[in-house]
Amino acid sequence: MQDTAAIRHDWTEDEVRALFELPFNDLLFRAQTVHRQHFDPNEVQVSTLLSIKTGACPEDCKYCPQSGHYNTGLEKERLMQVEKVLEKARAAKASGSTRFCMGAAWKHPAEKDMPYVIEMVKGVKALGLETCMTLGMLDQDKAGRLAEAGLDYYNHNLDTSPEFYDKIITTRSYQDRLDTLHHVRESGMKICSGGILGMGETATDRIGLLRQLANLPQHPESVPINMLVKVKGTPLENAEDLDRFDFIRTIAVARIMMPASHVRLSAGREQMSDEMQAMTFFAGANSIFYGECLLTTPNPETHRDLQLFRRLGINPEQRISDADDTQEQAIMRDLQAEQDSARFYEA
Ligand code: SF4
Repeated sequence: MQDTAAIRHDWTEDEVRALFELPFNDLLFRAQTVHRQHFDPNEVQVSTLLSIKTGACPEDCKYCPQSGHYNTGLEKERLMQVEKVLEKARAAKASGSTRFCMGAAWKHPAEKDMPYVIEMVKGVKALGLETCMTLGMLDQDKAGRLAEAGLDYYNHNLDTSPEFYDKIITTRSYQDRLDTLHHVRESGMKICSGGILGMGETATDRIGLLRQLANLPQHPESVPINMLVKVKGTPLENAEDLDRFDFIRTIAVARIMMPASHVRLSAGREQMSDEMQAMTFFAGANSIFYGECLLTTPNPETHRDLQLFRRLGINPEQRISDADDTQEQAIMRDLQAEQDSARFYEA
C-alpha cells in the first residue's frame, strides 16, 4: 500500500484534482489520517503578527488594503521603532505566543531600513521567541543578513497559481516570488508560504497553487491558507463569496500534499464560525495567528480563540527548541481561567 503520509515533490495535476474530487468525508478522513502521522491532532501552534510598517506599498496586489494603488482609508505608518516592536513582542510572549511575525508593506526592504530590521530580529530572538518576517522580495545578500541576525522564518506567499497570478498582481512576477523563496532557503531560513482563496480563482488555480508549494525542492515549513477579506476600496471588494467547503477541502488537500508542514488558518478567520474553524482543524490546519489584528484586518478576539480551544480540547503546541515554557504556561493559565468562568456560569 502506498504510504499516504510520504513527503513528495512530484504531485501531478490529475492526482491533486482526484484529491479535491473525493467525497468530503473521505477527503477529511484521509487528511486526518495523514495529520496524525506527523502531528498531535489536538495541538495548534500559535503565532502573533505585528505590522511594523503599514500602508503605501508600491505593489498592486488587488486584495490588499496596504497597496498605495487603492484608497482604502488605511492610516499609513512609518517603520515602527525597534523598542516599540520589542514591547509588542513582550506582550505577545506574555499572552502565550511562541512565534512573533513582523510584517512590512514594502516591495523589498531598503538598505537604509536593514539595520533597524536586523535589530528587531535580534531583540525578539533574545526574548526567547521564534522570529518571522515578511518584508517583500529579498535578494541573496539581504536574506543572508537576516538569517545571520537570527531570523527563523521568512514569509513570502505565492498567493495563487502561476496562471491566475497576473489577474491579481502586475508589479512583480511569479518568478520574482519563486526567486525570493529560493534565496530564503539558500540562506538557511525556514519558509512560510501559502496563498489566498476566494479571489475569483478556479478550482484548477487552487490545484496549481498547491502544486507549486508542494513541488518546491523542500516544502515550506508553514503554509498559510488565507480566505479573502474583502476590503472596501480594493478591486476585490465585491468578489464572489467562497464556498466554505471549498476552503476546507483546500486545507485538507494541503495537509495531504505537505504532511509535515504547519498549515495555518490566516486572514479570513474572523469570518469563520467556530464550527468551520473546528472542521479546518480536523482537515489538518494546525496553526493560527493569535491576537486582535492580522496586519490590517481584524482577527477573532483572543478570548474567543481560548474558548474555542477549550471547547475542542485543543492545546497550544509546545516549543521544541526552547526550554522556556512561559508562553505555554500563559496560554494554559488563560485556558484554566476560561474553564473556571465556564464553571461559574454552569453553577
Ligand atoms: S500584499 Fe504585501 S506586497 Fe502586496 S500590496 Fe500588500 S503589502 Fe504590498
